[in-house]
Amino acid sequence: GMGIAIFTSGGDSQGMNAAVRAAVRMGLYVGARMYFIREGYQGMVDGGDNIVEAEWSSVSGIIHKGGTVIGSARCKDFRERAGRLKAAKNLVERGITNLVVIGGDGSLTGANCFRQEWSSLLAELASTGQISADDQQKYAHLNIVGMVGSIDNDFCGTDMTIGTDSALHRIIEACDAISATAYSHQRCFIMEVMGRHCGYLALVAALASEASWVLLPEEPPPAGWQTTMCDKLRMASSAPRCGRPDHRQAAEQTTALPCHCTGGLFIYLPLVAAECVEADYVFIPEWPVVNWEKKLVVKLHAASVVVDNLGFDTRVTVLGHVQRGGSPSAFDRILGCRMGAEAVLALIEATPDTEASVISLDGNQAVRVPLMACVKKTQAVAKAMEDKNWQLAVELRGRS
Ligand code: ATP
Repeated sequence: GMGIAIFTSGGDSQGMNAAVRAAVRMGLYVGARMYFIREGYQGMVDGGDNIVEAEWSSVSGIIHKGGTVIGSARCKDFRERAGRLKAAKNLVERGITNLVVIGGDGSLTGANCFRQEWSSLLAELASTGQISADDQQKYAHLNIVGMVGSIDNDFCGTDMTIGTDSALHRIIEACDAISATAYSHQRCFIMEVMGRHCGYLALVAALASEASWVLLPEEPPPAGWQTTMCDKLRMASSAPRCGRPDHRQAAEQTTALPCHCTGGLFIYLPLVAAECVEADYVFIPEWPVVNWEKKLVVKLHAASVVVDNLGFDTRVTVLGHVQRGGSPSAFDRILGCRMGAEAVLALIEATPDTEASVISLDGNQAVRVPLMACVKKTQAVAKAMEDKNWQLAVELRGRS
């Protein structure tokens, strides 16, 4: 049967294991030889024990685990031709001419370059006696298919990326936990969530947790946003929402104070450490900031606006990698299953002339879409965000 290798690359996300499992089992079901490549492109370059044949039972008991059991990495060697040459040799030696890559746009771009370069890599390996002329001919074409694993949901071409839903669950759990303190102490909490250029997690988490305010990287707050935000927070804190007559009365009498039952206020700042540096000035255009420390400045600024104007006791909570941890949600497990199975079917049907595809979610269906077109659009969005062209970024993403 054909040799198919699967690997995870770039940042990990919940649900990757479900995709690995489904791909391996679909591959074995249709009679292919299936391989894991450990540690992403690094394992492909290093070869040896990093490339192992997978059996049906190799993927038992992994669907409920977070992260990726076959390991992920970022790999400098693969960016150089010399590294890709080693990788090609390792694949040819095992008769692997099909790759399933789960990663971000960088990993997918790398796979596509590798595919385009494949015949020239094989020619070099053959001319230097590292592979036989027979093998050069037998393994003349490399097919690839991609899946996007990312909690950010920032990839153009799919409704959801693998891991986003689980991350959302982690955020909501944290919001619920924090709201207990918020209610008890009438405190305002500023939550920072991940998302890099993409405000999806922040926006949806804000909706699902009754946040009073949300700051998104795609939508620079207009001049005077501080006043608008404070007005909104004041209203939210004094609204007699709990319905208990004594509380309602208290709230009506002292409108500046939150009702005991409704004191939870959240502001979300979707900023990511180091990755999202350029988004920071969105929030405080008047503060020229040049290094990572401004992240802290932004949050403290938002906090000080609340404290200075409203006198609320205010705390900043940074969720960080907690969002990428924990068990994958049911949605991400099913998403991984659907995409992993479809990825293998795409490889089986691929011909040397087919354009490489990425498996995407369209409504409720796992479908194939052109890989490079989606990668290019995703990169165009990132560029538009860097250029502060928010409107273009949102338009491009909206049409995906
Ligand atoms: P994340 O969004 O989680 O960071 P990503 O897949 O975009 O995921 P990158 O660090 O951009 O992460 O890429 C992962 C790896 O893919 C790189 O370390 C490198 O080995 C390989 N890669 C990326 N771009 C290329 C490229 N243009 N050519 C060859 N290899 C590449």
